[in-house]
Amino acid sequence: MRTERLYNDDPYLTEFRAEVIETLTYGDKYGIVLDRTAFYPAGGGQPWDTGYLNDEKVTEVIEKDGKLLHIVDNKLLSTEVKGSVDWARRFDFMQQHTGQHILSACFEKLLNGSTDSFHMGKDIVSIEINIDSFSIDDAERIENMANDIIYSNLPVIARIVSGEELNSLPLRKMPKVTENIRIVEVKETDYSPCGGTHVRTTGEVGIIKIKNWEKCKGGIKFAFVCGNRALKDYGLYNTIIRALCEKLSARDSEIVEAVDKLLFDLRNTEKQLSASTQELIRIEADNTIKECPVVSGIRLISRVLDNRSINDVKLLAQYLTKVPGTVALLACKNENAQVIFSRSEDVNMDMNALFKAVLPIIDGKGGGNSRTAQGGGSRVDRLEEFMNNAKNLIISK
Ligand SMILES: [Zn+2]
Repeated sequence: MRTERLYNDDPYLTEFRAEVIETLTYGDKYGIVLDRTAFYPAGGGQPWDTGYLNDEKVTEVIEKDGKLLHIVDNKLLSTEVKGSVDWARRFDFMQQHTGQHILSACFEKLLNGSTDSFHMGKDIVSIEINIDSFSIDDAERIENMANDIIYSNLPVIARIVSGEELNSLPLRKMPKVTENIRIVEVKETDYSPCGGTHVRTTGEVGIIKIKNWEKCKGGIKFAFVCGNRALKDYGLYNTIIRALCEKLSARDSEIVEAVDKLLFDLRNTEKQLSASTQELIRIEADNTIKECPVVSGIRLISRVLDNRSINDVKLLAQYLTKVPGTVALLACKNENAQVIFSRSEDVNMDMNALFKAVLPIIDGKGGGNSRTAQGGGSRVDRLEEFMNNAKNLIISK
């Protein structure tokens, strides 16, 4: 016995009585088969309904081996069932699904673009249209046409048609099934084979808004929202814009200009800061050189610096080693240890070999060439030992 699908004739039906025909196991859950149901199973791009059978929550509705399964956590205690469908979820799907028919019809009429696929996600609905290009002007034309169809409040009629009638209808796409072909007609505007649930009149779709588009394999993929989703979306955007207006002390029409100015100012500030930092590091290098004595023709500088960026320390090493006879062993102590060993051109010493010799002390990685070597290690606690060992190796030579 097949389940009678009440949603086909009345998608507005949310409460119904039915009898359990069969209870199947479904993983660690149960699949309830009823003699009749108002629950729509997943299919045709539309997700399943949720709701209740008696007190058991229906978490999923699927078709398996020709049977329509209502998935519940526990077996039902009675074969007599009162079913109730989550109307907010269902009506949302009806708005999005009918909106998709209208939008697909507009793409067909205005741009000769056929709809290759349709997906209804939790937040966004998408369709793939077989066209090569699309502009903002096109978006405006498509949206105007689609929303005019909504304002005209045209009837939406779903019915099974005979083969003969089918041939006489200007179908937007060919049916996938060969019998009991159900046509959804947006009155004298669009004829499309479909098994989903739709609203009674186009006015109930409320609004259609294209959100964005991107190239895809077969054409262009569009994200759009209809009805209550569009209202929620508008609410979210409005909240964001209002928050930005307040932060930027700007009107909504001036936000982009205000952000541009902010970015321009930020770049200038960054440039100035960078120049000042360079100057400070140059002074730091001069002072360090002055303070450090020359022993056996070598000025050996060894410093552990707290919370400095590695780029600053690199620059400091560059300034220091411009002065002849200098060897700079510099470390930054942050979450990890970062280390640079560098020397002036005239000093005859292999910094890479020295670096590699002491690197295991801080469980480090890295390397370089005979003039400069750089790397990092996790053992911040052994940084002093690391630096002392490197210094001693230089002095012993
Ligand atoms: Zn449909």
